[in-house]
Amino acid sequence: MNHEEAARKLGVAPASLTPAPAAPRFAETWARMQQEPPYSACGQPSRTSGVIHDPEHGPRWLDRCRECFLATPPPLRRPLSQAITDIREAAAEVGLRAVLYTDEDGRQVEQSG
Ligand SMILES: [Zn+2]
Repeated sequence: MNHEEAARKLGVAPASLTPAPAAPRFAETWARMQQEPPYSACGQPSRTSGVIHDPEHGPRWLDRCRECFLATPPPLRRPLSQAITDIREAAAEVGLRAVLYTDEDGRQVEQSG
């Protein structure tokens, strides 16, 4: 899901978030992440930062802790089956054994190598 969908799912009000640049450079996002600001939804130190674009409040930082990030993962850029194939091939190329968990509760395991 995108950042706006993540904020809605986590129940974060855009008005409560810190104003952000509309299109931050990676260095700006990295600097934000290094500060580990407490995430407004749960109060835990954040581990990742992104920007939501709210029509009423403009761009705002959405900082998420690990658990909140895992509950609102970003969309895959390619089908899961293709991503698994790519990881298997990359692991095989460097001689590593890969163990991949492919379902939400970590019970379905794909192994390679
Ligand atoms: Zn959290």
